[in-house]
Amino acid sequence: MGTTNTGSIDPIREMAALAHRYGMWLHIDAAYGGSILFSNTYRYLSYGLSEADSFTWDQHKWGLQTYSCSCIIAKDKQKLVRTFAEHPEYLEDIRDSAHVDAWDLGIEMTRPARCLKLWVTCQALGTKRISDIIDRTIHTMEAAEERIREAPGWEITSPSMCGAITFRYAPSCIEKEKYDELNSKIAARLNDETDAYLATTVIKGKKVIRMCVINSSITDRDTAEVIDDLKRIAAETETEYIASRA
Ligand SMILES: *Cc1c(COP(=O)(O)O)cnc(C)c1O
Repeated sequence: MGTTNTGSIDPIREMAALAHRYGMWLHIDAAYGGSILFSNTYRYLSYGLSEADSFTWDQHKWGLQTYSCSCIIAKDKQKLVRTFAEHPEYLEDIRDSAHVDAWDLGIEMTRPARCLKLWVTCQALGTKRISDIIDRTIHTMEAAEERIREAPGWEITSPSMCGAITFRYAPSCIEKEKYDELNSKIAARLNDETDAYLATTVIKGKKVIRMCVINSSITDRDTAEVIDDLKRIAAETETEYIASRA
């Protein structure tokens, strides 16, 4: 739920039906996309998640937390206990029978109170504000997608999903075989010459540029500036390439 490359979400309900039919454990990697659960507008995209036996949810991605704050949510907590609990003699006296000790739910024993910062964020902001923040990042990315669609020579290779888009410069005046190299060069120059940093990735064999806004302090103005820089750098890189070919 929310792939790193494109933010895409698999058909969870269909997969859950298969998992149930064959008695398989269904674990969902919602490390990044899980935070759409905070959004009143986009929560529907997680449809089927409740069918999972467990899922991963990184709060240090889109959940407003600093590293590291990640959770495993399991439908049946006792299954985590049966997997991870150990009962050494030296812990007998500090064992609390009234509740499950955190060290029995995962591989760590000594651990910082990672949940505290998340709890404080939830208490301080409230669910409505957090929902608005997640929505805002998604809207920022949708606006960026629109802007790139309108730019001549640019194409969207995966639309806005969970705050991520991928795109590339694919002008008709340049041979298709040169697009990968061209886009790598454009991203490298953007990263060298400006304050922005965009990584490339590969979608269906094509080298593309990935933009992902999960920080709500980034505005439409910021992404517009980055896109203007991309357009300028693309034009320069294209001119240089055509000159070198002549
Ligand atoms: C980030 C990410 C991971 C890895 O999570 P870490 O918190 O870096 O260990 C796994 N899956 C997806 C989809 C991610 O986005």
